[in-house]
Amino acid sequence: MNREDSLKALRLGTYLAFLIYGIFGILDFFMLPVNYRTAWFIRYAFVLPTSGICLGISYLPKAERFAPALITALLIAGQTGILAMIITASPGEPAFLGYYSGLILMILACEFIFRLPLKLTIIFFILSITAYTITAIFIQNILDEDVIANGGRWLIGNLFFMFSAGVISMMGTDRIHKEKRISENAKLQAEQANSMKSSFLANISHEIRTPLNGIIGYSKLVAEDNISSNNRSSYLEIINYSSNQLIEIVDSILHMAEIETGQTELQLQELNIEEFTGDIISEFSLFAENKNLDFLFNCNIAKKQLIVKTDAQKLRFILNNLINNALKFTDNGSVTVKCFIVATLLTFSVTDSGIGIENKFLDDIFKPFFQVNSGWNSRVRGNGLGLSICKSYCEILGGTIKVVSYPGKGSEFTVQLPLLTRRN
Ligand code: ADP
Repeated sequence: MNREDSLKALRLGTYLAFLIYGIFGILDFFMLPVNYRTAWFIRYAFVLPTSGICLGISYLPKAERFAPALITALLIAGQTGILAMIITASPGEPAFLGYYSGLILMILACEFIFRLPLKLTIIFFILSITAYTITAIFIQNILDEDVIANGGRWLIGNLFFMFSAGVISMMGTDRIHKEKRISENAKLQAEQANSMKSSFLANISHEIRTPLNGIIGYSKLVAEDNISSNNRSSYLEIINYSSNQLIEIVDSILHMAEIETGQTELQLQELNIEEFTGDIISEFSLFAENKNLDFLFNCNIAKKQLIVKTDAQKLRFILNNLINNALKFTDNGSVTVKCFIVATLLTFSVTDSGIGIENKFLDDIFKPFFQVNSGWNSRVRGNGLGLSICKSYCEILGGTIKVVSYPGKGSEFTVQLPLLTRRN
């Protein structure tokens, strides 16, 4: 039980103490015909004021810190009160037998109200019964065999009862905790999903607005009569660039939405992995040439293993994104793409000698919309969705994506996918 719950249990315990302890004062007339005034003193001048003090403290600020101590005080006061009434009873008054039930009520409170650990409840029980038996023998001088035998039976019976109650309540508490944990998790997930949705919408409207503003602004300029043909063609180039950017964003959003709603389907087909990767490389060769980069491709896979069964569309997206990023974030040196097989894993690595990524961002770059905040991201096109989609696609294909990177030296992204089937 956490401290907040202990505090609530303590308050419930004190209210019950007021009720039961208070009302049972009437019983004193019948059970303690000689000594009922002493019993009233114990009840109303000791136990109930102590309970009142505990209750009062429980409403003080930061009282949860004292909850365990207050519960202990309440239990000791309650049980000592009952024992005191038994001890002060005159021999022959029926309180000795009748007030045994009071002791048991207190022990039940340990178990069901204060939810003490089973071990503590049993210790409390044994102490109470021992004190009771000592009272019987040495103070009340009851050496009657029946009482002693009864005491033994009560002891064993109640120990068994306590143990069973403890196990049942532990099982119950465990189930309640489990249910509480599940509902707290569900609440947390719903809150996270909600805040992710809000930030997703905020990000996406920003991402869409930028190219749209470009298209609208430059279309107006193109429509003007008095602009030079040079300006017109550069404006058209900007419009073309912004339109492509818009298409990329819309495509990425569709991919993300499919992933989020679990609608991404695997469409497996056999393909020659060397030809497939080679085709993607050739689409980027002009980009690499324009940046004066060495663009290398090495496929080290035996001929008989070249045909693999995979989802071509997803693999194309992954490789396109990794190669595009490598070329985007590299100004000098080279970009190398390799494919090879490690055990039963089809492996691709894309290595560049570009700007690299700081260690602290290596996890973040796989989160939607994350872009390392450097001047570069304003120079190159991107929306921060590519790597997060790559990661989801790798997982859907049963594989992994990893990155090793050193700022100023370059990065290496490695994708490993299981070889689903191989033609021998
Ligand atoms: P983006 O569309 O911005 O490229 P990605 O999700 O593909 O989105 O990448 C997220 C960010 O990770 C990039 O904006 C960039 O800051 C960083 N990044 C990715 N690949 C590289 C790389 N090869 N070298 C340096 N930084 C990279």
